[in-house]
Amino acid sequence: MTSPVLPSHGRVRPLGLAQVSITGGFWGRRQAVNATATLAHCESWMERLGWLANFDRVADGTTSPDRPGWSFSDSEVYKLLEALSWEWGRTGDPEAEAAIKRLTARVARAQDPDGYLNTCFGHGGQQPRYSDLEMGHELYNTGHLLQAAVARLRTHGEDDLVRVARRAADHVCRTFGPDGRPGICGHPEIEVGLAELGRALGEERYVEQARLFLDRRGHGTLRDIPLGRAYFQDDIPIRQADVWRGHAVRALYLTAAAVDVAVERGDDELLRAVERQWERSVARRTYITGGMGSRHQDEGFGEDWELPPDRAYCETCAGVASIMVSWRLHLATGDVRYTDLIERTLYNVIATSPSPDGRAFFYANPLHQRAPGRPADADEVSPRAEAGARAAWFDVSCCPTNVARTLAGLQGYLATTDDDGLQIHQYAPSTIRAELPDGREMAVEIETAYPESGTIRVRILNDALWTLALRVPAWAAGATLVDDGHARPVEPGMATVRRAFRAGEVITLELPMEPRFTWPDPRIDAVRGCVAVERGPEVLCVESHDLPHPGRLDALAIDPLPGPRAEPGGARVRGRLAAPPDRPWAYSGAAAAPAAGVEWIDVPLRPYHSWAHRGPSSMRIWLPIERE
Ligand SMILES: [Zn+2]
Repeated sequence: MTSPVLPSHGRVRPLGLAQVSITGGFWGRRQAVNATATLAHCESWMERLGWLANFDRVADGTTSPDRPGWSFSDSEVYKLLEALSWEWGRTGDPEAEAAIKRLTARVARAQDPDGYLNTCFGHGGQQPRYSDLEMGHELYNTGHLLQAAVARLRTHGEDDLVRVARRAADHVCRTFGPDGRPGICGHPEIEVGLAELGRALGEERYVEQARLFLDRRGHGTLRDIPLGRAYFQDDIPIRQADVWRGHAVRALYLTAAAVDVAVERGDDELLRAVERQWERSVARRTYITGGMGSRHQDEGFGEDWELPPDRAYCETCAGVASIMVSWRLHLATGDVRYTDLIERTLYNVIATSPSPDGRAFFYANPLHQRAPGRPADADEVSPRAEAGARAAWFDVSCCPTNVARTLAGLQGYLATTDDDGLQIHQYAPSTIRAELPDGREMAVEIETAYPESGTIRVRILNDALWTLALRVPAWAAGATLVDDGHARPVEPGMATVRRAFRAGEVITLELPMEPRFTWPDPRIDAVRGCVAVERGPEVLCVESHDLPHPGRLDALAIDPLPGPRAEPGGARVRGRLAAPPDRPWAYSGAAAAPAAGVEWIDVPLRPYHSWAHRGPSSMRIWLPIERE
């Protein structure tokens, strides 16, 4: 099975690249751009910056202290290898195969005879191996190598990349096993890599090593740092924690591994701990976009309700990691709340990051941009994650390759099976062919213009008796299902049809796509008195390009009484730009009165994921309310 995550058991089973293909639409376009532009873009930047040559220098014995790139630059090569492997599995593209071979040869040459593989430590002129577990990222890099090998193994089979990963995993188990050094990595990732490679190769000891790393964490195992041990989740054992904290990507990669270990070990205590953390973090520490992490200083979660829109960090990688967690939890439990959050994150974080040409990316994804960013030079590395404009590459460039590997394997997140049928979670023009354990075959074709339209047609391709289940998103109150000519209302959750299907029949799900207001919990102080507009799975935003006075987006106020009106691809609300007169002091003994005599206008909203496509702009999702 060619799926990124393959638990040995769970409430539902994932379908892989061989069973599901996306044939067009919103995600089909993005997969195509990823394949034709982003993959080569990533390789050329890593070549240009010397991140690939770092492997050659280790192999040739020419390393020196002035190595280019951060200590985690090896991981970008591995994430690209993972993306290329899913891409080759999806399309059989010979260019992807050639790139895999090219990169694998350079990586393999740099592996030490005992399996250690890292271009930043342990060679001439460098610090010794594992001499900075807190910030050195050695095991983190290895974790991404193992995930790349899983992709290669499942789409192609054993080859040099898989053999390199196996030797690296064995080295980790020898060095950090029960009788080895009792250390952990400051950046979780080795755990999720070990768990999945263990599943892919049937190597139980890799899963056990992942469990050991998980349970070692949270006891002050790492040195304290200025940001505190919560930064790398070494403050509280994962089984005792009840919310995510610290660096968001670290917290989420760690949690993904915890689900893997819990499922493989039948460890219900651990699974319940993770579900508890998911619940509180989603209820109190997650943006309306699905974005996670509000603090810039440590790229981390804030306190409960600390969700400022303009200071939202919402790293693209945290979106990827959130999907990794929710998908694993969904496979374990079948709970639709997890696939609901995946949809929200896909449309409002993952889709937001890459430019339409696939050669520039957002790293941070704020919900409010006060001043337009400076257009990024397509030929320069951006030193900053928070630029207000998509950049071709970053000094810390974790997000582009993370988007690439997610998009290349995206069809793996569309559907699942159980013992009696097929569950469809994400809607895209696609074909799905799957077999039940008793041999019954299910084949469907999905026709939809989602999310532009809420009509999803599921065309049955063969005669068989089984249960079709379609996810009705939490926002989709008033949805209807048309089966055999009969329409019936369906509630958010899973709408099911169980019967003997005939080839050619069509079951239609109608999701209400009228734009709607969404109100925040008043404890999110930063957006109290504001409302957002959503349409289907898309969060909408106002962009300065669409306003008569672009400089005055700060002064936007909307009248919520008329409600948002539908417009192709977005919505309109009634609002005005009523800036008070400038004063020498922004505070006063009297509450500010709305400016008089300013006309109400129609304010257009567009999907947040498309913001800054037309050049730098100021933008906001949360709209202050003013009643006339
Ligand atoms: Zn990132």
